[in-house]
Amino acid sequence: MKIFDAMREHGHEQLIFCSDKKSKLRALIAIHDTSLGPALGGCRMWPYKTEDEAIQDALRLARGMTYKSAAAGSNYGGGKSVVWGDSARDKTETLFRALGRFVQTLDGRFITGTDVGTSSTDFIWARAETKYVVALPEEFGGSGDTSIITAYGVWHGIRACARFALGAESLAGRTVAVQGLGKVGHKLVEHLCEEGAHVTVTDIDPAKVASVRAAHPGVAAVAPDAIYDVDCEIYSPNALGATINDQTLPRLKCRIVAGGANNQLAELRHGDALHERGILYAPDYVINGGGAIQAAEELGGFNRDRALRRAAGIHGTLLRIFAIARDRGIPTYRAADVMAEERIAEVGHLRLVYTPPSS
Ligand code: NAD
Repeated sequence: MKIFDAMREHGHEQLIFCSDKKSKLRALIAIHDTSLGPALGGCRMWPYKTEDEAIQDALRLARGMTYKSAAAGSNYGGGKSVVWGDSARDKTETLFRALGRFVQTLDGRFITGTDVGTSSTDFIWARAETKYVVALPEEFGGSGDTSIITAYGVWHGIRACARFALGAESLAGRTVAVQGLGKVGHKLVEHLCEEGAHVTVTDIDPAKVASVRAAHPGVAAVAPDAIYDVDCEIYSPNALGATINDQTLPRLKCRIVAGGANNQLAELRHGDALHERGILYAPDYVINGGGAIQAAEELGGFNRDRALRRAAGIHGTLLRIFAIARDRGIPTYRAADVMAEERIAEVGHLRLVYTPPSS
């Protein structure tokens, strides 16, 4: 692949190849845009088939983080690290300490934490070599599990959608189909039930469905594939990505798609299709921004109440995005990008004002 062309296409600043023979580390650190501040983004461990695949993933994920931080109102840029390896087989202390040393060489230009394939334990190892890691367990000085604040933000995001699309002041009596009852989905169902929504759930793990229904007997359940056919006002994907695709889209009966999962649209054209069908889509990187908000808050000295307040602010952010989409006649996923790009340009511009080093 032509790496400089790929970087230039979306304005990436830097791509760092990290290799350590002894620990067998093969990692990439991609830094997309630091107009707003140091690049912040998790570390993915994945058994990529080729080097190109790893590079493409690192560049794509880093860019996504620029938009996520900008939309969340954080003063961080976008970056991501990927470790090329099998998370079930290749993890060692030295591997993550080696990664930590490479992160440290960037002296705070890049800050990382967990993502798919990595856990906080891995970053306790990395922490021995660098201070630039976030979202460690509370007993290690971090802010702990990000899913609670993520679910809280998703709930507020769903309320914003209901207000905009249904004119509803609350979710009481509204029908919501929740896909995925993991860390985020389970907590989200609690919020929805507390507010009096009628909830239907599904998960490929029957134990998770049973656990939710034991806690909330009013919740209905369907088989995993039947969730797309549920007659509901809100479909909330909280499992894997790409559940809005050519197969599922014609089946959806909802007015709103709003959930915590990353990369919900299989392709961007599916965001256009939702728009054409009059289904309001809450852009995933905005509504699930609670985890990124928590990480940013941790770096500034963590205060849970303040982080929760900022996650609740996703409500107002989404209403602004929906207004942009309505006024410009564009899909909401595009409006979210517009809002993020405007903030990056406007706040980033302030950096052009010279301030003496001592100030
Ligand atoms: P998790 O692994 O705890 O839960 C995922 C759940 O989805 C599991 O219970 C799994 O059994 C279920 N699932 C998988 N495939 C399914 C299918 N086809 N149908 C129904 N259920 C299925 O993960 P999580 O932390 O709850 O995250 C959920 C989503 O939210 C992911 O897409 C994640 O990337 C995203 N997200 C999470 C956070 C966070 O802080 N945890 C932050 C932002 C975004």
